Parts: sequence; structure tokens; C-alpha cells
Amino acid sequence: MAARARRPAHPARPGSRPVAGPIADVAGDDARWMVRCLELAARGGRTSPNPRVGCVIVSARGEVLAEGWHRGPGTAHAEVDALARLGGAARGATLYVNLEPCDHHGRTPPCAPAVIASGVRRVVIGAMDPVPGHGGGARRIARAGIEVTRGVLAPAC
Ligand SMILES: [Zn+2]
Repeated sequence: MAARARRPAHPARPGSRPVAGPIADVAGDDARWMVRCLELAARGGRTSPNPRVGCVIVSARGEVLAEGWHRGPGTAHAEVDALARLGGAARGATLYVNLEPCDHHGRTPPCAPAVIASGVRRVVIGAMDPVPGHGGGARRIARAGIEVTRGVLAPAC
């Protein structure tokens, strides 16, 4: 009896690009949409020392409602950019973003209140904001009763 061909340890996912870091521990839609966030983020200009950020808003039926990304200092953050395409309303949807929504007044107003006001049901975050004093958005969103998932593909975000 012929030996069966062994399956590759890391089968390529259709439509995705290779990302840095382990992906074996995450599967399914969250990882797929987070990869899309990173693709959108890559469209942004220089944001150093801040990471580049992309955002996808997905309906409960799995359809992309809006995409956004941060174009550079002083411009709308990715979440606000995506929400603006929906007139700020995304009731029942899931918002994916590769960096924790901010909750401080920088050059633009904080994103967390806009995310809460949009009516999204769930927020999926890649990496938490590494800048001291910039975190807290995820906590604020969760306190508003929105389901928050964090750490999806975090090493790549
Ligand atoms: Zn922000």
C-alpha cells in the first residue's frame, strides 16, 4: 500500500499573505480579517514611532461594510476613517483593527468613543497600544458592553 502524501505543516490560506509570527494558534475569520487590516495598514504613510493601522468593518453576515487606514500624522485614525464611510453607524457589525483604539486626545479626537457610538457588537484588536498613556481604549469599549477580543495575530501587528 502506497504511503499517503503528508499534508504540509502550514498549508497556505487562499487570499492571504504570509505574516510574521505564529498563526497556528489562531484560525478562521478573526485571523483572516486581521490580515486584511495589516494589508490596509501598509497603505499608510510613515507613522513612526506609531505602528501603521488598518481597519475592516464586517457585517454579521460576513460582508465587508467598510475599510479604512491611517494615512499619516494629523489624519483620521483607521477606525474613524472606516466608520466615516458608514456615516459613523455600524450597528451589529464587528470592527477589526490591528492596534487598540486610542482613548486620548492627540492630534485627532480619541477613537474609542466613536467606536462605541457606532453600535458595533464586537471589536477585534491585534496589538494593544504600546505607547505609555495611549492605552485604555479596549477597556473603555468593553465597559460599554461591546465584546472585545484582543491579541489576534498580535506578533504581526
Ligand atoms: Zn485613534
